Amino acid sequence: MTQIAFIGLGHMGLPMARNLLKAGFAISVFDLVQDSVASLAAEGAKAAGSAADAVRDATVVVSMLPASRHVESLYLGDQGLLAQITPGSLVLECSTIAPDSARKVHAAAAARGIGLLDAPVSGGTAGAAAGTLTFMVGGKAEALEKARPILAAMGKNIFHAGPDGAGQVAKVCNNQLLAVQMIGTAEAMALGVASGLDPAVLAEIMRQSSGGNWTLEKYNPWPGVMENAPASKGYSGGFMAELMAKDLGLAQEAAQATASSTPMGALALQLYRLLLKQGNGKLDFSAVQKLFVE
Ligand code: NAD
Repeated sequence: MTQIAFIGLGHMGLPMARNLLKAGFAISVFDLVQDSVASLAAEGAKAAGSAADAVRDATVVVSMLPASRHVESLYLGDQGLLAQITPGSLVLECSTIAPDSARKVHAAAAARGIGLLDAPVSGGTAGAAAGTLTFMVGGKAEALEKARPILAAMGKNIFHAGPDGAGQVAKVCNNQLLAVQMIGTAEAMALGVASGLDPAVLAEIMRQSSGGNWTLEKYNPWPGVMENAPASKGYSGGFMAELMAKDLGLAQEAAQATASSTPMGALALQLYRLLLKQGNGKLDFSAVQKLFVE
């Protein structure tokens, strides 16, 4: 039976690991936060005391960490996890990180005879819980075929974006667009409400009109418009603004490297930095709404 190690049980990792359990996979789990490990152990996962302990008997390793530096420090170097993973195993690195960072980890894994895919996701915490994530995969097609049954237990759409790092490039492009949509939606909601419209009425009109987009469909930033959206829960849960700022920074790095013109992405990054400076980095990224209301 496939033995999976899952490392990083945050907003996304915990529900993703839970779906692997539900699908019948044997998994060992590790996070720096002991409570998250304990809650999955109560549901049938094996609690590991360290990342090295988690991968001991694993043939597949899944990781879901915040950013490039966490991923590089987990896997690389003499003490890194790649030195502990059995050659021939497969690593599915699902965090959103810099494409160059992903390529570095790809090269180190290949040098040890370990297969690796960069497989960042889209769909938010709701998609992670429902097992409907979209995976954007970079790496070898054969490795993706091996990974498919595992990814399918956590997601609905699985795209092969291209070679090593291509999944991260796709993800960064997607999140730049998402940030621009979220900011545009927040700005329009504030304008309409300041001009006397009922927020729920305005949201529904725009959702069904030419301004309609994913944030109006699933994630309205105005509190009270959508019962289950983070905006209606004090902007808690969901996708932290500081992680969106990280992704917008990655998009700007990619733009720099390719001499691409990304003025909307650049402005989105500046607005998210402002939100972070106001002490809102741990809130959901829809809290960008706060910039437009007193
Ligand atoms: P999070 O901060 O909630 O979770 C990260 C987890 O990693 C934390 O529990 C942390 O304790 C753990 N961790 C950090 N370093 C570790 C280490 N060395 N060993 C073990 N555990 C470690 O973040 P998240 O919202 O779950 O996001 C994870 C990744 O997914 C990020 O790259 C993010 O950009 C991306 N993402 C998030 C969402 C979302 O809606 N939250 C959606 C798509 C993609």
